[in-house]
Amino acid sequence: MGFKLSNSAFNEYLISLKEKYKVYAPVTLKGKGTFSDTDSIRYSEVYSIEEMTLDKKSHFSFKELVLPITQTLFYFTEDSWIEPKIEEKEILIFLRSCDLHGIRPIDQIYLNNGYEDPYYKALREKIKFVLIGCGESFENCFCASMGTNKSFNYHMALNYKNEEVCIDIKDEDLLELFKGIDFLEEKDVSPNYVESNEISVKVPDNLDQRILNSKVWNEYSSRCIACGRCNFVCPTCTCFTMQDIFYKDNPKAGERRRVWASCHIDGFTTMAGGHEFRKDKGEKMRYKVMHKVYDFKKKFGYQMCVGCGRCEDICPEYISFSNCVNKLNEAMKEVE
Ligand code: SF4
Ligand code: SF4
Repeated sequence: MGFKLSNSAFNEYLISLKEKYKVYAPVTLKGKGTFSDTDSIRYSEVYSIEEMTLDKKSHFSFKELVLPITQTLFYFTEDSWIEPKIEEKEILIFLRSCDLHGIRPIDQIYLNNGYEDPYYKALREKIKFVLIGCGESFENCFCASMGTNKSFNYHMALNYKNEEVCIDIKDEDLLELFKGIDFLEEKDVSPNYVESNEISVKVPDNLDQRILNSKVWNEYSSRCIACGRCNFVCPTCTCFTMQDIFYKDNPKAGERRRVWASCHIDGFTTMAGGHEFRKDKGEKMRYKVMHKVYDFKKKFGYQMCVGCGRCEDICPEYISFSNCVNKLNEAMKEVE
C-alpha cells in the first residue's frame, strides 16, 4: 500500500517502528572523510528522516550490518566456550537498489554454497529492507549495465524529494506499525530508479581464462598500492579471516573473531610454509575483477558486481573498475 506523508508523520512512523526494529540508514559524519574537511557517509542507527543522507551515495555499503567488520563468534576459556547474545530487536535497513541486489551474492556465499553459516543466518533472519528510490545516477555508478538499477523485492520503499515522503509498504508487520499514522494521501507509489548512467560497462561475452595472460593487468602492478579499500567498501566482497584474541589478564581466556579480509592485501593467500599465490598487485587486481565479473557468474549464474562504483570512488590511485572491465574487450582480442 502506498502513502504520501509529511516529514513529521514519517518521523512518528519511525518511532513506532523503533519499538520493534533498530533502524539503520546512511548518515553524514562531518569531518570523517579521507581528506581534511571532507565528510564520510556511512551507516548508523537513525531516529528521524532529517538525520538520513538520502541524496548522496554512501561511501560504505549496508554490508557492515549483515556482515560486521569484526564479529565475535564465541568467548572461550580453557575448557568451555559461549556465544555472545544476539540483539533481540529486528533490523530495518534503508538502502538503494544496487545494494539490495548486493544481498543476493552475500546470501549465496553464506547460506547457499553448500553450508549455512549460523552466525550470518542468525543476523540475516532479523533483517528487513527499505528501498531508497534513486532520483538520479551518482558519479561512477553503472547499475544499469549490471541490471541492478531496479528492485522490487523490498519490504518497504521510499521516495523522498522536497520534504515529501512517499512510501510503499509491502510487509504486513511494517503496515501494522503504520496504523494510526496521520498520512496526507493514499496513493500508488513505485520506487524511483534510473534508466541509465553516464558510465556503461560491457563484460565481454567471450571472457574466459585466456585473459590471465593479457598485458592488461600490468598497469595495475604499478598503480595499485594494495590498500584493500576497494574490497572494504564493496557491498559484495565476502572474504574474512579469523583472529583469536587472548586477554592480557588471563591468557587462557579470550575470544574468536571473524574479521573482514581483502584479496588485495599481502598475506591473503599465504599458506602454511609461507608460500603465497598472487604476490604481484596486477595479479591481485586480475583475481578481484575476474571474481566480480566472471567466475562467480560461471558458478552461480549471475554477476557478483552490482555496479555501485564505490571501489572507484574510494581508490586513492584513481583506479577505475568500470574502465578495467571495459578494457577486457580489447584484452580478449589480444589473447585470442
Ligand atoms: S566491484 Fe566495485 S562496482 Fe562492483 S559491487 Fe563492488 S564496489 Fe560496487
Ligand atoms: S583501492 Fe585502489 S589502490 Fe587500493 S587495493 Fe583497491 S585498486 Fe588497489
